[in-house]
Amino acid sequence: MTAYLLTPGPLTTAAETRDAMLRDWGSRDADFKALTARIRDRVAAIAGAQQGHSCVPLQGSGTYAMEAAIGTLVPRGGRLLVLVNGAYCRRAVRIAEIVGRDVVALETAEDTPPDVDALDAMLTADPGITHVFAVHCETTSGILNPVEAIAGTVARHGRGFLLDSMSAFGALPLDLSSTACMAVIASANKCLEGVPGLSFVVADNDALEASAGNAHSLSLDLHEQWRGLEANGEWRFTPPTHVIAAFDAALNAHAAEGGVDGRNARYRQNCETLVAGMRDMGFETFLPDALQAPIIVTFHTPADPAFDFQTFYDALHRRGYVIYPGKLTQAPSFRIGCIGHLDHTVMRGAVDAVGEVLAEMGVTNTRPAAA
Ligand SMILES: *Cc1c(COP(=O)(O)O)cnc(C)c1O
Repeated sequence: MTAYLLTPGPLTTAAETRDAMLRDWGSRDADFKALTARIRDRVAAIAGAQQGHSCVPLQGSGTYAMEAAIGTLVPRGGRLLVLVNGAYCRRAVRIAEIVGRDVVALETAEDTPPDVDALDAMLTADPGITHVFAVHCETTSGILNPVEAIAGTVARHGRGFLLDSMSAFGALPLDLSSTACMAVIASANKCLEGVPGLSFVVADNDALEASAGNAHSLSLDLHEQWRGLEANGEWRFTPPTHVIAAFDAALNAHAAEGGVDGRNARYRQNCETLVAGMRDMGFETFLPDALQAPIIVTFHTPADPAFDFQTFYDALHRRGYVIYPGKLTQAPSFRIGCIGHLDHTVMRGAVDAVGEVLAEMGVTNTRPAAA
């Protein structure tokens, strides 16, 4: 039996998406070039991009696109401010350090959105900051960060805004025609429900144009990747052809569901079913509802000594549900994802399985240890 993946990705995919991988493509063939052009246009449209932005796809998982965006769009003499409230923002800091860009961080706790007033003050105080990086939904906790307020502040200061929308893109609204963004970074295998191996950056054309020669890397050079695709519709290096074909099928399903609104509604229902069911059993969420994105939910680990995460995980897997350990730096926790090709009946099944496993383990108290 294939288990449902209640994780931050890769995720459960539709049969049609997997079936689209059953043929081979010549990467320099006209059919494949048309496929590439189609997925680029469709991703740009989901971002609300107008003529001023282009979708630049890249081989590799989302981190590859993060590294390409930071290494290409932030010039060697630039300085990147990263808004940190979880592991993925911390990853952006690490990338900037490795590619040798000046980087500063503005940190808030993992259950606290970035402080937009502090951002404003920092941009006023330090004119050397050229770019700001934020995460849309910080998948570490599942928190929804205030993208519009951040983008507006960054734009008022005339700096470039890079947004990691990896775990939000396609399910949480984002409109580049009203939200000023130099680059939106995402991948195929999260809310767009493709298979892993493909990421992309929807970037401002002027910024792409100006970024020639910035990149520290041959393969992660977003400018050259864009130039190559614009010149002849071809990828510079071997593209993940089957993954791209699957992504096109996944985008068909996204459109058929009603685009971002349709997907958002299904994930919201998934999330509500999960949270209500878990709370009925006494579990507590890490985040208050107002900050929770309908993407992945972090639950506190029960303090009951009969609870053991690995036993819990294995027993849920045996019942057909794969969950995820917590990634929080402090509170002991675990995460259950709401995204992928599944609906609220699957979430209800997962909640029922949790109930069975608790009984099997002899857990009677699901409350977390007192803080
Ligand atoms: C998944 C994710 C990434 C990329 O992780 P990969 O393992 O490289 O796919 C980056 N940022 C966020 C917020 C994510 O959720």
